[in-house]
Amino acid sequence: MRALILSDIHGNLEALEAVLAAADGLWDELWNLGDMVGYGGSPNQVIDRVRPLATVHVRGNHDRVCCGLTSPNTFNPAARTAALWTRAELTPENLAWLEAMPQGPIMAAGGLASCAHGSPLNEDDYLLNMRDAWAPLERMSTRLTFFGHTHVQGGFARNGSAWHEIKPAFAPLTNGNGNGNGRCKPPADLQTSRLQFDSAERVLINPGSVGQPRDLDWRAAFAIFDSEQSAVTFFRVPYDLVASQGRILMANLPERLALRLREGR
Ligand code: ZN
Repeated sequence: MRALILSDIHGNLEALEAVLAAADGLWDELWNLGDMVGYGGSPNQVIDRVRPLATVHVRGNHDRVCCGLTSPNTFNPAARTAALWTRAELTPENLAWLEAMPQGPIMAAGGLASCAHGSPLNEDDYLLNMRDAWAPLERMSTRLTFFGHTHVQGGFARNGSAWHEIKPAFAPLTNGNGNGNGRCKPPADLQTSRLQFDSAERVLINPGSVGQPRDLDWRAAFAIFDSEQSAVTFFRVPYDLVASQGRILMANLPERLALRLREGR
């Protein structure tokens, strides 16, 4: 079984479409790790696209705030503005669907792996380094957990007393442009990085963010898990960044939300 794992799409339809095109034919199931909306200009379109495709859905903190389950008061001003805009923009059907999204962790692949938005121990916790990952690696109920929330592709692994961080190796890319006018260079090719697990390892994997990467690579991030091969392949794929930025600006959302997409942070 091969699972396409998507996280933190954040209303970025152009990034989502590029990911689905790049992954076409490579997956049997789709697992959605949450934060489908917030920040981006296409919340309804993203939900309408992913909802029928995914067999696992886990709610994210932005999903909760955008549908009104949680107050936006803990968000920074740009995130709060985007959340309130998203709430007004969502159809009643999509609002109700977001409200009903389940909290992680959720078992997938017959108990082989779990899916969470933040930590498997607390949906709002960020796993940014080994210190954050230590307790979840020890206490998570499955050997393998997929998580999102940090928008950083990679993860953490532990095998007895040995542990390491997982960082996919791609050729570094900086800004999608260099001239500052919002036009990006011709897109680089799709890149992949494969990781094989040791059967004794406990592993936390972040597929990265589809719609708002924060690891200094503007390209959409995702991963595919192959359960037979015990392997994960990380992907980076270029997308129509300018069109996505245009939707944010035309919706009168903060300019910073458009600019940061190009910076990958
Ligand atoms: Zn997010």
